[in-house]
Amino acid sequence: MAMINPGSTNFIQAIINEDLKTGKNEGRVHTRFPPEPNGYLHIGHAKSICLNFGTAALYQGLCNLRFDDTNPSKEEIEFVESIKEDVRWLGFDWEDRMYFASDYFEQLYDFAVELIKLGHAYVCDLSATQIREYRGTLTEPGKNSPYRDRTVEENLDLFRRMRAGEFADGSRVLRAKIDMASPNLNMRDPVLYRILRQTHHRTGDKWCIYPMYDYAHPLSDYLEGITHSICTLEFEDHRPLYDWPLEVLNLKDRPQQIEFARLNLTHTVMSKRILRELVEQGYVSGWDDPRMPTISGLRRRGVTPAAIRDFCERIGVAKSNSTVDIGLLEHCIREDLNEKALRVMAVLRPLKVVIENYPEDQVEELDAENNPENPAMGVRKIPFSRVIYIEQEDFMEDPPKKFFRLSPGKEVRLKHAYIIKCEQVIKDEKTGQIIELRCTYDPETRSGMASGTRKVKGTLHWVSARHAVPAEVRLLNHLFLSENPGEEKSELGYKASLNPDSLEVLSSCLVEPSLTEATPDTRYQFLRQGYFALDPVDSSPENLVFNRVVSLRDSWAKAQKS
Ligand code: ATP
Ligand code: MG
Repeated sequence: MAMINPGSTNFIQAIINEDLKTGKNEGRVHTRFPPEPNGYLHIGHAKSICLNFGTAALYQGLCNLRFDDTNPSKEEIEFVESIKEDVRWLGFDWEDRMYFASDYFEQLYDFAVELIKLGHAYVCDLSATQIREYRGTLTEPGKNSPYRDRTVEENLDLFRRMRAGEFADGSRVLRAKIDMASPNLNMRDPVLYRILRQTHHRTGDKWCIYPMYDYAHPLSDYLEGITHSICTLEFEDHRPLYDWPLEVLNLKDRPQQIEFARLNLTHTVMSKRILRELVEQGYVSGWDDPRMPTISGLRRRGVTPAAIRDFCERIGVAKSNSTVDIGLLEHCIREDLNEKALRVMAVLRPLKVVIENYPEDQVEELDAENNPENPAMGVRKIPFSRVIYIEQEDFMEDPPKKFFRLSPGKEVRLKHAYIIKCEQVIKDEKTGQIIELRCTYDPETRSGMASGTRKVKGTLHWVSARHAVPAEVRLLNHLFLSENPGEEKSELGYKASLNPDSLEVLSSCLVEPSLTEATPDTRYQFLRQGYFALDPVDSSPENLVFNRVVSLRDSWAKAQKS
């Protein structure tokens, strides 16, 4: 039996605490996560997963995974498999409780027969258009269907024959007999079953009638012994309809629907329909494109489940819709990676530097700490030699006043190594482009040596030319430029806001040799460049590919301070 959680932090926990006090549900807490298998899960689903599984765990309760597969035309097995993988990866376990709404088709049919017998449902021959016309509006009541008063016997006969396949698709429906004048449009004799000859991914061609979501959902919850059916706010108006079959069938131990605000994120679209369009129309490389807000995209990008869970915890649950700054998600990713990431050196846009007074064949193995935030992560050796590469943008021939990086005649420290001074700039004769710098080093300034403490203003990252490993680096930016791409007014809709620079590929990067041992599970901080991880799909030992998980600049934390 569950225990009251005295530290309750949200309104859902407050409801559950109250239920436990009054002894409702014999003290059980049982939730479910009910995805429709018509796409990949996204960060919004992560909120629902954390909420459903997290709430159950908090009360020593249970959470089921239930596929809401009542809509045969859109569902695919690929999506079922991806959803299972994503929920598991996020760190949650449904144990032996994976269900499909289609498992209940027979029981749902029996419930419908019962509703007919009780006089609460009827077969209606109006077309879809007519049903809409008869429905009325927010200001006008609807009109009764001419088929509303069929006898129980006639309804039973017609419904049985609907199932037997005697009628054409769309020619008849089963409707609830509630109230065509209800102020709530959802209660104006909603459709419960439709005829649809469509092969189902699990039941094949066994059925040619399919239950509607609003009918199947409360009864599926009931059949699984769900106590708290947590869903998003747009179902608030459907709540009387959720309760309706449970009440008129006089079922005991009814589940309770509780609505919360869905997650919206700036610079992001969350609708599965749109995400699917992005994939199918080739705007991204797939559902797991690292720019996608999908769980699989975030995983491929190098985000950890811990960061996503932390984000879901911080946004909390509320009763009114709002949009969360994507900077908060990035902040959570950064905080998580700051602890975990190995600090390494990688030069994204290399500029050759020859240290003229460094012996030709000498190589020094220098000590480099793996994570200054966590000394337990140890040190590694990095090779230093006469020819190195630095970042092109770390040199300016004619710098402004506050440029503390390298320029002619100026000194900088090379991280973990020596102070160098720029003596000469070599340019391509034809193009005038800077192709090489000639420098000298001060042997007395090696990092970590007693004599090495002389200070200069700038410190640069670098790699040794002889030892560096080539790599491709992908810088990922927001997929959408506008904050609210879903509300784009132009004719193109969200497409008007697609960011043409969402993916920047740098193909001639050089990384330190320790990265030949990189695995997709390891996260790195490329000094001064951000957090990176191997792309698990495109990277290979011969051809290293890194994604930038997130940059170092924390716009969110900054905005909080000001
Ligand atoms: P669509 O984009 O097609 O409307 P959906 O959101 O209805 O998709 P489902 O597969 O039905 O997708 O969602 C499964 C569960 O995840 C539902 O309980 C739904 O309320 C929840 N969910 C979906 N999107 C969000 C979101 N942005 N924030 C929080 N929960 C969400
Ligand atoms: Mg849905």
